[in-house]
Amino acid sequence: MKALVLGPDRTLDLVERPEPSCVAPDDVVLKVEQTGFCGTDRGVLLGKFSAEPGVVMGHEAVGEVREIGTGVTTVKPGDRVIVNPTLYCGLCDRCRRGLLNFCVNKAGTEIGIDRDGAFAEYLRLEERFLYAIPDDMPYDRAVLVEPLACVMNNLEAAGTRPGERVAVLGAGPIGMVAALLADHYRATVRLIERDPFRRRTAEAFFRNLSCGAVSVCEPRDAPARSADLVIDTVGSLLTESLTIAADLGRIVVMGFDEQATATIRPLELLQRGLRVIGAGDYNSLLFARAVQTARHLPLEGIVSHHFRLDQVDAALTALGIGPDAEYAGMKVVLTPGAEA
Ligand SMILES: [Zn+2]
Ligand SMILES: [Zn+2]
Repeated sequence: MKALVLGPDRTLDLVERPEPSCVAPDDVVLKVEQTGFCGTDRGVLLGKFSAEPGVVMGHEAVGEVREIGTGVTTVKPGDRVIVNPTLYCGLCDRCRRGLLNFCVNKAGTEIGIDRDGAFAEYLRLEERFLYAIPDDMPYDRAVLVEPLACVMNNLEAAGTRPGERVAVLGAGPIGMVAALLADHYRATVRLIERDPFRRRTAEAFFRNLSCGAVSVCEPRDAPARSADLVIDTVGSLLTESLTIAADLGRIVVMGFDEQATATIRPLELLQRGLRVIGAGDYNSLLFARAVQTARHLPLEGIVSHHFRLDQVDAALTALGIGPDAEYAGMKVVLTPGAEA
């Protein structure tokens, strides 16, 4: 099968790999229909986050069940499913306390990071990490359920309440999903983005939805101390977040950037009553609810491009990766099953 693997110099290379087949009784092999290109994948290629060289990348996947192991009971060939790529062991102390996203045995099990992922025609995964796609939900929407689960985890960790003022930093796909979900929770949302293309795209998206409670602006137009809750989807904007947060506000750090650092005056947190929250990626216990919530959210409007695996260069250009490339896309989706 065709697959895109991470090269030693942070390239994404099209290679041939053997097709997977079921080994363990609970294994399922999927034909991958769509895999979203995540901000984290982009971060890996830009040196902001680590992944294992040689790994097949891609984790935001949806597909059709092709083959099932002898013990599989909840899916059958032909079923449409969403992949939950944040695997957990279920046996460690943290898993047994329900903190599945902080499983101590995660190393070596993150799909598309240090275990082969879904920028490939087929993917093998244990049954328990697959969720049925509702019959009325197209793949274009289902492919955004995993990012929705991440956003849901972060908004819920911060206790998002109706009527409060939420500032979302970054109008990439995660920022868009965060604004959409915060609006669904009946908050008043300001989406703040530096890049003019992304700002225009976000404005058009929310105008068409007539989401009156979502406004879009650039950073210099975001008033200081104006948000009860700040979500930093970029992962490097803690200093800006402290400025935008109102006194007694909460700040959630969300984007994955292992190079970002920030200087904080502890006294400011103390005197202004600020709380900084790290919520990890989603807890898998949220995943089924994310599938159901997606039925009410027009997530497919965030998908801007579909590319086959052999069009990876065009996909990278749309993502602003490469010399002189600028953002020309929102959620870029690869379609491993599509014929050339
Ligand atoms: Zn992701
Ligand atoms: Zn565990």
